[in-house]
Amino acid sequence: MKTVYTFGGSADHTDPRQKDKTVTGGKGANLAEMAQIGLPVPPGFTITTEECVSYLAGGSDFSEMLRTDVASAVKHIEATVGKSFGNNDDPLLVSVRSGARVSMPGMMDTVLNLGLNDKTVKGLAQTSGDERFAWDSYRRFIQMYGDVVLGVDHGLFEEALEIAKEDKGFYNDTEMESEDWQTLVAEYKAIVQDELGHPFPQDVQEQLWGAIAAVFDSWDADRAKVYRRLNDIPSGWGTAVNVQAMVFGNMGDTSATGVAFTRDPATGEKAYYGEWLVNAQGEDVVAGIRTPQYLTLAARDRAGAKQPSMEEAMPAAYGELAGVFEILEQHYRDMQDIEFTVQDGKLWMLQTRSGKRTAKAALKMAVDMAGEGLITEKEAILRVDPMALDQLLHPTLDPKANRDVLTSGLPASPGAASGTIVLDADSAEQAANAGEKVILVRVETSPEDIHGMHAAQGILTARGGMTSHAAVVARGMGRPCVSGASAVSIDLKTRTLRIGNRELKEGDTLTLDGSNGQVMAGTVATIEPEMAGDFGVLMEWADKYRRMRVRTNAETPNDCKMARQFGAEGIGLCRTEHMFFDASRISAVREMILADSEQGRRDALAKLLPEQRADFRQIFEVMAGLPCTIRLLDPPLHEFLPHADADFDDLAVTTGLDVDHLKRRAGELHEFNPMLGHRGCRLGITYPEIYEMQARAIFEAACEVALTSGAAPVPEVMVPLVATRRELQILRELIDRIAQEVFAEQETEIEYLVGTMIELPRAALMAGEIAHEALFFSFGTNDLTQTTLGVSRDDSARFLGPYVDQGIFERDPFVSLDIEGVGQLVELAAERGRKTRDDIKLGICGEHGGDPASIAFCEKVGLDYVSASPYRVPIARLAAAQASL
Ligand code: ADP
Ligand code: MG
Ligand code: MG
Repeated sequence: MKTVYTFGGSADHTDPRQKDKTVTGGKGANLAEMAQIGLPVPPGFTITTEECVSYLAGGSDFSEMLRTDVASAVKHIEATVGKSFGNNDDPLLVSVRSGARVSMPGMMDTVLNLGLNDKTVKGLAQTSGDERFAWDSYRRFIQMYGDVVLGVDHGLFEEALEIAKEDKGFYNDTEMESEDWQTLVAEYKAIVQDELGHPFPQDVQEQLWGAIAAVFDSWDADRAKVYRRLNDIPSGWGTAVNVQAMVFGNMGDTSATGVAFTRDPATGEKAYYGEWLVNAQGEDVVAGIRTPQYLTLAARDRAGAKQPSMEEAMPAAYGELAGVFEILEQHYRDMQDIEFTVQDGKLWMLQTRSGKRTAKAALKMAVDMAGEGLITEKEAILRVDPMALDQLLHPTLDPKANRDVLTSGLPASPGAASGTIVLDADSAEQAANAGEKVILVRVETSPEDIHGMHAAQGILTARGGMTSHAAVVARGMGRPCVSGASAVSIDLKTRTLRIGNRELKEGDTLTLDGSNGQVMAGTVATIEPEMAGDFGVLMEWADKYRRMRVRTNAETPNDCKMARQFGAEGIGLCRTEHMFFDASRISAVREMILADSEQGRRDALAKLLPEQRADFRQIFEVMAGLPCTIRLLDPPLHEFLPHADADFDDLAVTTGLDVDHLKRRAGELHEFNPMLGHRGCRLGITYPEIYEMQARAIFEAACEVALTSGAAPVPEVMVPLVATRRELQILRELIDRIAQEVFAEQETEIEYLVGTMIELPRAALMAGEIAHEALFFSFGTNDLTQTTLGVSRDDSARFLGPYVDQGIFERDPFVSLDIEGVGQLVELAAERGRKTRDDIKLGICGEHGGDPASIAFCEKVGLDYVSASPYRVPIARLAAAQASL
């Protein structure tokens, strides 16, 4: 198996492994592909991700094979470019770039201009005829290499540069002369010597291997781990390393560097979008050092920018670039995010990848591209990340609301966000953990801020363009972001913020409109999202292709209505206990629990019956004609017990019993482990009158709705926490008996089903037996996960994080189903249930019913439906469609 793949020049790109991102990473695979379709790509080579994994596993050692293969790959670059690595007269310089399977913005560090030393810098000056450029490149190299590979604090270099500029009275780096850079190089080298106790490495081989090691090691850096955890990227993938001949955007006014998208990544509009800088290198554009210029004339006009666009300043190179955009979109059949450099008028492509986009843009592009015939409807469905829909389903700012606009920046990531101001990532995280909504305000964000960006409702930066770190990361996370709001100045000492002439402090509220870049004081009213348009079209396609039905978990008429608007096709889980907790009812519930006798309980239940019936009637009206799974009372009675003395006093008045007596009863009902205690069907078995009342309320309400609206709901009465066939048999008889009573009284009949939740391992194992009594199973994967893993969901926060970090669980098993373990029980129960009753209805009602990966598993097992909370219904519709394609 090859450890290294060369690209560009005369390299052979036919090995399919080279285009496999799992082997060569996203960047490496696409560089090879661009070279193959004839685009101008500087030659280079990619070290496989496999090498990274074995290097990290094997105590940071390079294999002999890798050393040999790298040496011959360097020869490939030398031969193609006609320069040699480490040659003093005409040196080859390379970049060393990381590239994992999926792009991880800012996570991995790139080193540019590698191969420079005190001798080769002179050769570079000679051959390029540009001394200033050579020394600029050398100081950049020392700075990057010093920071990334040698671990010298980059602040030290930046400070030295600032002082050098100040001494000269310069504002921009571009004003620095050759001699200035030379002086700075000497200072940089002194910094390295001081910090490390040894000189900056002059041996180019040492430089190269040091950089390769740094890229490998960066896979395990803290910030990469945070990003991986937030994005569910397995730690075992590793990163590839790309070593590539340098091309120079910093060779004067005919050179430039830039980043571009083939369509607008914020809105999805079909227009080239990008930023570039004359006489600059790589990271300059994204680092926010100088304000980048617009790519197209149209964008420049719209923004009213002074600096010329690339279209105007470099028409030939721009024309070529536009041609490349078209080729790339046709080739990849998707919007591309591109990095390019122009060296002395000649265009070079340095990267392409399918671009990150906002949910809104993803939706628009998918629908547009299907319309253009670039992709099919099915592909369009697969293009939109179901979880991203979440962003579109949430409110935006009410256009009619008053806005106290403080300033405007760039609309870097759409959506509305309000919250209190915090000025650093750690505070953002702390405040968010305490339940506060915060807006993170920074000069510019860096990868160290990711946890704070995640914790914040929205992000505001004073510097940086549309492709800055803040913008890219915020779009990926779905956080509204306004970037480059230059009127914002932050004083970290006083923890205050000045915007124009307004002074704000940490803790004041701020609202951001990420769709137009406005920054407002206070909180601004919001409106509900638009369900029509592209969203409606895509959902229609999804509905056309999905097999599974999508229901909702809801127990209030409002949630039911919302879920219907989102396309729910029934209720998968209506938890009746939520109705019991209602303030106006809790005392009747407590009266029932604390009653000494069956009669006492029946008296209290009689008060609850009309209330429950009214609840169900409202729900059934919304869900007329649709299946509604109603779960009978499930939680331990323990949870309803009064705590405060005042509660006992109230209860004494309503029941006429004395407080001491009530307290003693409450003491008797106390449980040590309520989760495994007197709950679920165990309540129904011991206090049948509770389930009788609930069944009566369900059937009476259903009959009423059938009579008044003509469209009966189909109640699916669900018995929780069943472990044995006999439990369900007893309760099924009870439910059937009540149904017959009600039908006789109402002189009407409706269709209904009795079934059970499968949420105990025993129930899953005995599903074949239980199915004799059940017309449906609903997998209660929350409890099934708790009982199978022996992990209490409510107590798992303390160890689940470390468990995921250490790869014990790939993801939080309460968020995404543990398919390997708990999944087996689901699969087996489905199989055994069907064997007994081939038309048994199967669904899932745990939290997992709204998680795309779990939904894909449900499709595989052949469940009839999934059920999700109302906002997750569209996500589930799309995920179900994707799963069946
Ligand atoms: P990231 O993954 O953070 O985008 P890259 O490896 O793409 O890092 O490198 C960052 C920047 O460095 C790119 O924008 C690119 O313009 C520049 N760069 C990388 N390799 C070269 C090269 N061989 N020649 C010129 N510029 C380069
Ligand atoms: Mg980078
Ligand atoms: Mg890049």
